[in-house]
Amino acid sequence: MSDPPFRSDPVEGPQGPPAVDVATLRAAFSGRLLTDAADMAPFLTDWRRKWTGRALAVVQPDTTDDVARAVGWCRAHRVAVVPQGGNTGLSGGATPDETGRAVVLSLARMNRVRSIDRENNTIVVEAGVTLQRLQEEAKQAGRLFPLSLAAEGTCTIGGNLASNAGGVQVLRYGNARDLCLGLEVVTAEGQVWNGLRGLRKDNTGYDLRDLFVGSEGTLGVITAAALKLFPQPAAQVAAFIAVPSPREAVGLLQAAQQRIGPALTAFELMSDTCIGLVEKHVAAARLPLAERSAWYVLLEVSDSQDEAHAQAAVEALLEGALEERLATDAALSASLSQFKALWSLREDISESQGAEGKTVKHDISLPVSRIPDFIETTGAAIRREFPGLRLVVFGHLGDGNLHYNLSPPEGATAADAARFVGLEGALNRRVHDAVVENGGSISAEHGLGVLRRDESARYKSDVELNLMRAVKAALDPLNLMNPGKVLP
Ligand SMILES: Cc1cc2nc3c(=O)[nH]c(=O)nc-3n(C[C@H](O)[C@H](O)[C@H](O)COP(=O)(O)OP(=O)(O)OC[C@H]3O[C@@H](n4cnc5c(N)ncnc54)[C@H](O)[C@@H]3O)c2cc1C
Repeated sequence: MSDPPFRSDPVEGPQGPPAVDVATLRAAFSGRLLTDAADMAPFLTDWRRKWTGRALAVVQPDTTDDVARAVGWCRAHRVAVVPQGGNTGLSGGATPDETGRAVVLSLARMNRVRSIDRENNTIVVEAGVTLQRLQEEAKQAGRLFPLSLAAEGTCTIGGNLASNAGGVQVLRYGNARDLCLGLEVVTAEGQVWNGLRGLRKDNTGYDLRDLFVGSEGTLGVITAAALKLFPQPAAQVAAFIAVPSPREAVGLLQAAQQRIGPALTAFELMSDTCIGLVEKHVAAARLPLAERSAWYVLLEVSDSQDEAHAQAAVEALLEGALEERLATDAALSASLSQFKALWSLREDISESQGAEGKTVKHDISLPVSRIPDFIETTGAAIRREFPGLRLVVFGHLGDGNLHYNLSPPEGATAADAARFVGLEGALNRRVHDAVVENGGSISAEHGLGVLRRDESARYKSDVELNLMRAVKAALDPLNLMNPGKVLP
């Protein structure tokens, strides 16, 4: 950096690396720098309380220049930077390690909407804007920002982009990466790269934006983004459909894509075990069908005409599906409250599984065509090798993304639960080996963080790992940007 705002002045500690005095950083961020243990605590533990770290300080910048100043200070003092948005990530990426030599950079106060261009269908927002607020701002402008996930009230667009989040509408609109046209980033050197271009076409060299999207804070700090907006749908209809098995569910997906086209916005699969857990733990939950089925599909259609048009399209699809035995029964939403009730059955699965006690989770993706065989053969292997465990399988079938989760046997004792936790490594290996054998990925939408960092490295080729290391070394030669995440 040509003009560092801070000089390097590490103080020698009694042992180990030099101690660092944050006085100069405190002076620059008075009131927005936390060092008290109780104040820092919420920033040092992740959402699932799986990881807790330590930090020199938590810094809360208000502007891009603030971020550049903080990163410059960290660089001068050889201090690691851990960017953090809403701290809802599920892979431990936003939690500092235990050395206590990192600064957590919370982007939450950078929450301004910079501009909306209705004709260009774009919005420029700062990284700390929550996903829900972004959706609301788009709606007020008569547009749709389609990224949607259960943590949307808390997660930030910076975190969504840094982890390339997915959610429930990827089938129609793509994941966070697909919704991003441009970025503003503070580099590891403390410089500001303004790439906030609202262009759908821009072939002027390497795509730097796509390097930072999905990099989980390991290459730079995203401070703002230019994002795509879409027309708002005139009507949305959901259908909850009983299907005999995942094979028929894939057949139904093909039929829905053929008949309904891009208006098909979501296509979710869930087993009867999942729905049973929701009925057990959510008082208002009701199966909307007369008879139970081994598997269900929840599909959503967003229509640009009206509700009647959407209903007619889904009814025609279902008629054919029942005839071809792809489906055995179905319920259609006829009001907003019914639409929400059907979606709740899907959205409450994670929490209901959590209410049963310890869980082992896998966020995997596979070619859609491989999913029926994968579910059948991996399920059989797990039942054989780990008898009694409950498979809680659901996910975004339209995107080939399964949440392939396990719970201990029903009525498990504390000793059973402890044994179950001890099986996590073996279960991970069993599931992930099968995923890779089927041409899949061991992290579909939650990123690697620390949770999947080492496992991912085990499955990647040396060529791929070396390319990733070369990118990291080029953009962050001092290894100060979220070290220990993504790459071993
Ligand atoms: C209830 C629940 C439901 C979820 N559902 C889904 C789902 O359906 N689909 C899905 O994809 N994910 C889901 N997630 C996880 C999802 O990744 C996060 O919710 C979200 O994308 C992370 O945003 P955040 O602001 O909380 O980021 P954080 O948790 O703060 O950070 C996540 C990662 O991004 C980095 N980061 C954060 N902000 C920046 C920045 N400005 N610049 C650079 N790096 C940054 C962090 O260092 C970390 O590595 C869910 C999480 C929860 C708790």
